[in-house]
Amino acid sequence: MRLLFADQFGPHFRDDLPDDEQVLLVESRQAFGRRRPHRQKAHLLLVALRSLARELGDRAVLVQAATYADALRTAGIDPRHVSVADPTSYAARRWVREQGMTVLPARGFTLGEKEFQDWIGSRRPVLEDFYRWQRRRLDVLVEPDGAPTGGRWNFDADNRLPPPKRATTLGLPVPWRPEEDDLDREVRAELEGWSAIDLVGRDGPRLFAATRAEALAALDDFVAHRLLQFGPYEDAVLAGDWAMAHSLLSVPLNLGLLDPLEVVEACLGAYRSGGVPLQSVEAVVRQVVGWREWAWQLYWALGEEYAGGNALDARTPVPQWFRDLDPDAVEAACLRSALADVRDRGWSHHIVRLMVLGGWALQRGYDPQQTAAWFRDSFLDGYDWVMVTNVVGMALYADGGRMATKPYAAGGAYLDRMTDHCGGCRYSPKVRVGEDACPFTAGYWAFLDRHEDRLRRNHRLAQPYAGLGRLADRDALVAQESARGTTAP
Ligand SMILES: Cc1cc2nc3c(=O)[nH]c(=O)nc-3n(C[C@H](O)[C@H](O)[C@H](O)COP(=O)(O)OP(=O)(O)OC[C@H]3O[C@@H](n4cnc5c(N)ncnc54)[C@H](O)[C@@H]3O)c2cc1C
Ligand code: SF4
Repeated sequence: MRLLFADQFGPHFRDDLPDDEQVLLVESRQAFGRRRPHRQKAHLLLVALRSLARELGDRAVLVQAATYADALRTAGIDPRHVSVADPTSYAARRWVREQGMTVLPARGFTLGEKEFQDWIGSRRPVLEDFYRWQRRRLDVLVEPDGAPTGGRWNFDADNRLPPPKRATTLGLPVPWRPEEDDLDREVRAELEGWSAIDLVGRDGPRLFAATRAEALAALDDFVAHRLLQFGPYEDAVLAGDWAMAHSLLSVPLNLGLLDPLEVVEACLGAYRSGGVPLQSVEAVVRQVVGWREWAWQLYWALGEEYAGGNALDARTPVPQWFRDLDPDAVEAACLRSALADVRDRGWSHHIVRLMVLGGWALQRGYDPQQTAAWFRDSFLDGYDWVMVTNVVGMALYADGGRMATKPYAAGGAYLDRMTDHCGGCRYSPKVRVGEDACPFTAGYWAFLDRHEDRLRRNHRLAQPYAGLGRLADRDALVAQESARGTTAP
């Protein structure tokens, strides 16, 4: 029998099984109850589990139980007769081994952990080196002589444009979304009655794929309608366009419904048949076989204790309004919109996560482990393995700089350039002190002030620290921001 965890839904997790072997699926209430998941995440996972059970018919054993161990006991299954692809968290890996299951190498990624260890050896982890190695190793956009297609490994300089002036959307078709069925209705009704489990976020039509067929439809939709625009506006934010040209594929990828190489292949196919520029295809390839694999590999390579880092000694508990995804508590237009995105969809795009939500948590010294748990539970694509590099390392600098050479702190000027929020905000991005002071601008300087002893010697921060030294209103600004405490801005 093969155990499939609730992020191992695709055919590549069971295509080696003989037809008469069964598949075990578990709806574990404890897995939901230990956390405070987004309502749409609980919905998605339950629909995915039940849809696969229905698709597999007699081959599937779907057990509802408090825990995975209870599920084995209830169904009378001897774990020593169970095989499983190595799961995606330290805790689950320990558990399958304690049970005596046959553990197969992890699936759903392009690279084994041993191969990564051999490659990285004692070198400093640098994403760009890894990415080029991946491109060569996988033979993706590489010429026969080993040079990158188009003569460059990286088109970032052509991408990362601010949003087009005066546009409210990129004008792309509405992203694909699944047609809900009886399982959605069944699960929605059930979740209404889950009084013992605290869910966060709003219900809404299901936006993300829960089955293999839906995941393939989502991939086709991205390639047909948004890939073309993917590169240039990758970092731009428009209040009226929640999806921009992003793929929205992190959810089906992290559920194991899509394999990363098939995403890459689909994009390369569109490039080869013309019409999609290299800069867009390269940008997706960089995300999928670069960033995603990097996050996965570093989760294991850096070890379990890395997630507990707190290099900036950030001790502020994540406040209730942030935990509750309550945009109505917030006046700052950028943060209000980001929280509304998460409340309404359990998803927002990278820059919103990094520079608005993560940036706020960094500036305000939110506890890194609480913040990582918040991201993991509030986002439909959130899993432990993704948190370590993205939240602990990149967004919060809680590893003291192993992932990023400087904290990703930014003030209102960055957000004013890359988003269209500031024009309609009650604050002004250029103002530091007073009624109209932008909390991101003031928070940025207050952050530098608070960590001066730790960060001043970082040569990438030499200019900001010189700027801080020149602020005539520094004392007033620091007093203003410390009085703000954990109040919503
Ligand atoms: C603070 C923070 C929290 C994040 N939390 C998550 C998370 O819980 N789950 C998650 O999958 N990604 C996370 N990311 C990475 C990234 O923001 C999302 O993968 C992306 O926004 C998902 O939207 P998309 O599928 O449209 O991505 P696209 O922009 O279309 O990118 C294509 C794919 O590349 C992969 N990818 C791109 N960047 C990363 C990255 N940094 N790490 C891992 N995969 C990446 C994803 O699988 C994504 O689907 C986080 C980033 C930050 C800064
Ligand atoms: S002015 Fe400041 S708070 Fe308002 S949207 Fe701009 S960056 Fe955000």
